[in-house]
Amino acid sequence: MRRFDYASPTSVAEASQALVSRPDARPLAGGTDLLIQMKERGRIVPLVVSLRRVGALHELSANGSLAIGAMVTCGEVAEHDAVRRYWPILSDGAELVGSIQIRNRGTVGGNVCNAAPSADVSPALVALAATAHIGGSAGTRSIDIEQFFRGPGQTALTRGEVLTRIDVPRPAAGSGGAYLRHVPRREMDIAVVAVGVQLRLANDGRTVADARVVLGAVAPVPLRSRGAEVALIGSTLDAAALTRAGEAAAADARPISDVRATADYRRELLKVYTRRVAQIALGRARANAG
Ligand SMILES: Cc1cc2nc3c(=O)[nH]c(=O)nc-3n(C[C@H](O)[C@H](O)[C@H](O)COP(=O)(O)OP(=O)(O)OC[C@H]3O[C@@H](n4cnc5c(N)ncnc54)[C@H](O)[C@@H]3O)c2cc1C
Repeated sequence: MRRFDYASPTSVAEASQALVSRPDARPLAGGTDLLIQMKERGRIVPLVVSLRRVGALHELSANGSLAIGAMVTCGEVAEHDAVRRYWPILSDGAELVGSIQIRNRGTVGGNVCNAAPSADVSPALVALAATAHIGGSAGTRSIDIEQFFRGPGQTALTRGEVLTRIDVPRPAAGSGGAYLRHVPRREMDIAVVAVGVQLRLANDGRTVADARVVLGAVAPVPLRSRGAEVALIGSTLDAAALTRAGEAAAADARPISDVRATADYRRELLKVYTRRVAQIALGRARANAG
C-alpha cells in the first residue's frame, strides 16, 4: 500500500475542509471497503480523512422516525430492537453484511457511499424511502436516497461532501418488509441477486395498498422495480400476482453476466426471490396490522 497522509477532524466542517485540500482525498469510516481497495487493488488515496471523531455521526435514534448517523455500524443497526421491530427489512440487510467482525466495523454510511451494486444495506433504505443528509463546505442538503446512487462506486456526493445522516420514516401500521439475497455460500459472500420488498396493507388487512420493490446486484444501482410494484399493489398477493411481480422484476432488471452468474440466471433467480420476499413481507405486515 502506498503511503498516505491522515487527518482526524472532530466536525463535519473540518472534515470537509480536509477533503477539499487534496485531490482524491477520501473519508474513512470503518475501512472495510476503502482499506481493501488501497491495500489490494492499488487505489491511491493521498489523504485519508477519518470520520471516527465526529461525534454527531455516531448517533442512532428511533424516536418516531429512525435517524442513522453515517458512522453507525451495520452491527448496531442489525441488533437494534426498534429497527428489528419497525424496520425489519433494514435489520435483514444489515445482518447479512460480512461477519460479526465486519459488521462491528463496517458502517451504514460506508455501505451506502461505497455504492457497490451488491451492497446489502442500500436496497432496504431505498425500499423505505429514506432521506440522505449531506454536509460540506457549502452547507447542508438532503436528497431522496434513491437519487444518491449514480453507478458502481458513484454517488451524488461532490468534492468535500460527506454523508452525515440517513432518516427513515416509520412505516404505518399494517406495513411489513423483508430483504433476502442469493449467495452461493452462506456467509462472507456478496449477493448474486437481492430483493427488498416493503409493503403496506389496506384497512381490510388483505389488499396491498402500497409497495416498493428494490433489486440489488442486477443493475448499476439499487433498482426499484416499478413493474413489480404495480403487480403487487391492489392484489392480495395471490399466486398470480406473485408470479406477475417476479416476472416484472426480471424484466426491469439490468443484470450483467460475470464469473458469479449469467444475466439469464440472475433473471430466473429474481422471479423466485421476488415471490419469496413479498411473502415474508406480507407475513410481517399482517403481524403488524393489529
Ligand atoms: C470480508 C468482507 C465481507 C464483506 N461482506 C459484505 C456483505 O456481505 N455485504 C455488503 O453489503 N458489504 C460487504 N462488505 C463490504 C463492507 O464491509 C460494507 O460495504 C461496509 O458497510 C462498508 O463500511 P465502512 O464503514 O467499512 O466503509 P469504508 O471502507 O470506510 O468506506 C467505504 C467508502 O465510502 C466512503 N465513505 C464512508 N463513509 C462516508 C461518509 N460518511 N461520507 C462520504 N463518504 C463516505 C469512503 O471514502 C469509501 O469510499 C464486506 C467487506 C469485507 C472486507
